[in-house]
Amino acid sequence: MYKQISYNYKSLERAKEREAMASSGYRAHVLAIPYPSQGHINPLLQFSKRLASSKGLKVTLANTIFIANSLNLPKSAGYVQLETISDGYDDGGFALAESIAVYLSRLEAEGSKSVAEIITRHKSTPNPIDCIIYDPFLPWALDVAKQFGLATAAFFTQTCTVNYTYYLEHHHGLIRNPASSPNNLPLGLHILEPQDMPSFFSVPGSYPAYFEMVLNQFSNTDKADFIFANTFYKLEEEVVDSMSQVCPMLTIGPTIPSKYLDNSIRDNKEYGLHLFEIDSACTDWLNTKPAGSVVYVAFGSMANLSDKQMQELALGLKATDFHFLWVVRDSEEAKLPEKFKEEMAEKGLLVNWSPQLEVLSHEAVGCFFTHGGWNSTIEALSLGMPMVVMPQWTDQPTNSKLVEGLWKVGIRVTVDQNSGLVGREEIELCIRKVMGEEGIEMKMNAKKWRELAIEAVSEGGTSDKNIDEFVSKLVIAKPASV
Ligand code: UDP
Repeated sequence: MYKQISYNYKSLERAKEREAMASSGYRAHVLAIPYPSQGHINPLLQFSKRLASSKGLKVTLANTIFIANSLNLPKSAGYVQLETISDGYDDGGFALAESIAVYLSRLEAEGSKSVAEIITRHKSTPNPIDCIIYDPFLPWALDVAKQFGLATAAFFTQTCTVNYTYYLEHHHGLIRNPASSPNNLPLGLHILEPQDMPSFFSVPGSYPAYFEMVLNQFSNTDKADFIFANTFYKLEEEVVDSMSQVCPMLTIGPTIPSKYLDNSIRDNKEYGLHLFEIDSACTDWLNTKPAGSVVYVAFGSMANLSDKQMQELALGLKATDFHFLWVVRDSEEAKLPEKFKEEMAEKGLLVNWSPQLEVLSHEAVGCFFTHGGWNSTIEALSLGMPMVVMPQWTDQPTNSKLVEGLWKVGIRVTVDQNSGLVGREEIELCIRKVMGEEGIEMKMNAKKWRELAIEAVSEGGTSDKNIDEFVSKLVIAKPASV
């Protein structure tokens, strides 16, 4: 399944010798480079922690200077060392860029220089960098690594199903081609109707710079020594098998803190890097509520609902009469109905940011009303939590299809075709379904996925074996001359 690692090494024996002789005790040194957003930092940081804590690697993770400064990051996060790269906007990050396209191009120009500088600086240390694990939203990181003769691993943060659609479009134009119908799609993708495809396909012309970026993830993966996906084998068995025939993907997830899965990593109960300030009131508030009585509502770090949609959601929640914990980021607060927060004080707690894993694993929570971002979705699956999914864009429509149609752990809301909104009645109905009778089976299915997620990352599980194989190939292939 693996391709041969393409860089030179003199002999297995010498590499092994080098390993034995390494005074630092590290088996190899990996530099991890996430795309600078919450949903991309979390999984790669957690994967880094697993590599560093249980697999004997030294791992350094590079955030942007803006993120590091605004969070006042220390030099390490748990087991992982932290470094910084520039995205060209050290004083304000993405918010300062004129456009998405301009941001991505400065990130490439400045980021490439920073990554080269980090590699060079580590060269003369006892632990030079051996491998770069990069988010394929940043395909240029592979090119930098190759200039230095390093091994490379692309780390896909989305489902294999979504990755495969981008692969097929990039290489064969198969998804946008009108001749393609579900029947022509490879095994595993045939359950996707046009409206289930990532939004860049189903809403033509939307976010062209991001569309180019997601397709370009596959512009140079043929040169990557390893390709990882944050999913687990049994979750997407058909797609993983089908895609691996053309592009070997190693499932290594779920990358959620170990406390919530195999509990094998000491003190690993959170990702540890939040771009927003957590409201500590959540858990105390949940502690006062009966089991399964609360609807948790959160749309990740980026979703931006219209004013009208916010109103419908607020009124739909109110109509259910359930308790709710709703994450409304600062930037969204003005869209709430007037005095909503005060009027609903008995029923609902509104916070700017929650400790999501703690919330999803709290017994008071009975349903997760989510945008279907991949981290939120795999967190809910891993914690056995049924969902109502209201997808907004990018991979979320596809995730919502899988939640409802494949994994059967939730339902997707229906958008009113005239208004383009999800109305309050629909919101109320969907929540009632998941919190009621219909939800019982979803909950049982969700528990099954949780068990399978734990099995995948535990010793000898599919993800664990894939990680071990990566580590041993990396260690064996370390250049003997360094
Ligand atoms: N998250 C959190 N608190 C919140 C909302 C979200 O910690 O109040 C975390 C969540 O656990 C997940 C990430 O932020 O790991 C959001 O990633 P996702 O892929 O779901 O959505 P995105 O932000 O990329 O749209």
